[in-house]
Amino acid sequence: MPPSPSDLEFCNRTVTVMGLGGFGGGVGAVRFLAEAGAKVILTDLRTEAELRSSLAQLDSTWPVTLRFGRHDEADFRDTDLVVVSPAVAKENPFLAVARERGIPLTSEMNLFWERNRGRVLAVSGSNGKSTTTALIHAILEASLSPRRSGHKNSGDSRCWLGGNIGISLLPEVRRIQPDDWVVLELSSFQLEDLAPLQPRPEIAVVTNFTPNHLDRHGTVEAYRAAKQNLLRWQTDDQIAVVNSESEVATWPTAATRLRFSPADEQSFGVFGDGSEVIARMPLKFGGEQRLPLGRWLRLPGTHNWQNAQAAIAAALAAGASVAAIEQAVSSFRGLPHRLEFVAEVDGRRCFNDSKSTTPEATVLALQSFDEPIVLLAGGYDKQIDLSAIASAAVSRCRAVALLGQTGPQLGCLIEAAARAANVSGPTCRGFESLGSAVAWSLQISSSGDVVLLSPGCASYDWFQNYIERGEQFSTLVKRAEPEVSRRGAETQ
Ligand code: ADP
Repeated sequence: MPPSPSDLEFCNRTVTVMGLGGFGGGVGAVRFLAEAGAKVILTDLRTEAELRSSLAQLDSTWPVTLRFGRHDEADFRDTDLVVVSPAVAKENPFLAVARERGIPLTSEMNLFWERNRGRVLAVSGSNGKSTTTALIHAILEASLSPRRSGHKNSGDSRCWLGGNIGISLLPEVRRIQPDDWVVLELSSFQLEDLAPLQPRPEIAVVTNFTPNHLDRHGTVEAYRAAKQNLLRWQTDDQIAVVNSESEVATWPTAATRLRFSPADEQSFGVFGDGSEVIARMPLKFGGEQRLPLGRWLRLPGTHNWQNAQAAIAAALAAGASVAAIEQAVSSFRGLPHRLEFVAEVDGRRCFNDSKSTTPEATVLALQSFDEPIVLLAGGYDKQIDLSAIASAAVSRCRAVALLGQTGPQLGCLIEAAARAANVSGPTCRGFESLGSAVAWSLQISSSGDVVLLSPGCASYDWFQNYIERGEQFSTLVKRAEPEVSRRGAETQ
């Protein structure tokens, strides 16, 4: 596609992209700029080997100068624009070099936002962003697809998914039509950068708020202010979906609020915690109806119930049908590595929650099941207190396979928690590999149990990242599936 007139500004310009990253934004920025005729300098502190998977997505015909393993001041001095990854701290000295010279700084999301003509539905919050975003997108796709497949005229609207979820829509921005929905996950860093553009999403969703990323934002106030940018400039014809059980319910906005909570608040929103929810919407979005969410939702845990409530409120406000909600929610299996159902092995349901890198996430995962659990936990030692995992394991687990650097420490904590509770506690054993831990977990569990990888720790001691850890777990479990069935058949 030739560059549009608005992108001619990049033709033959030098643009420095700072930070390739692994979540799509860097690759998207480079592709967009290269296709718009810019001379791109791509620089990242990480080495080529570390950036392998992102680098594989770059086209060798693009005019890109690569600088890895370090930054060079000249790339921030002799350039027309710097596109900064959201992961880079504002006080980075190389950015100061660009600022001193009056060179403008921007980001992949800001470049997208300035050019996007579609209708934005944006999701943020401290937890549950990706799940809620993906669920909303699935509902809107289900809502739009019958029309799309029926008659493929160019007037039919589409639904796009992107942002912090790991997809850059910047290279697609010229294909997005004014009637299309753009479902975006936005991180606090992206929202901080968007402030000068005063973003006004047609529908905004804030899942919840807990102190996070304080290493980057400095204070909880700064983190909160960044998140509040999602609602701050909305107008009264727009929608804000907010969690009633969180402070986000009171954040300033001119938009119509749709709330979600377990109890019916007799206001607009999605309410209930039993088998069904009441969706009470303004008349133009369908009025009041009861939806059997308990029958539809496959994802375990009250946190996923909340994510589904938020998604339903936002999707109804975007015009989705109840049939589309039923279809999408019933077939949504969750995102990989987040309490993802992997397989049933001889009556044991196995879940991959490798994204759990904090004790809070593991506690949440343990609270999501009523069945006895065999937990696989432990990993890289971030020097944080793991006793919350230990207490939850004592009340919920049949056994715990201890992994990685923190395994021995977690074992002692579980023993101490069991002693304090005056119970015998779960059987614990330490392992040197994930393979032997999975084999033991399947052996020690019984039919009807849950086998759960929810490490509560980072993965860097044994793995490249949580994705590799989760994939290995899934492979091991799936490999065990036929073996266990075969062994069962042999003993009959
Ligand atoms: P995010 O994109 O905000 O990191 P995800 O949807 O990827 O959130 O979920 C990551 C983890 O966060 C989940 O595995 C779960 O432990 C936790 N989580 C998800 N949704 C919620 C929620 N609504 N409230 C609290 N924790 C949640």
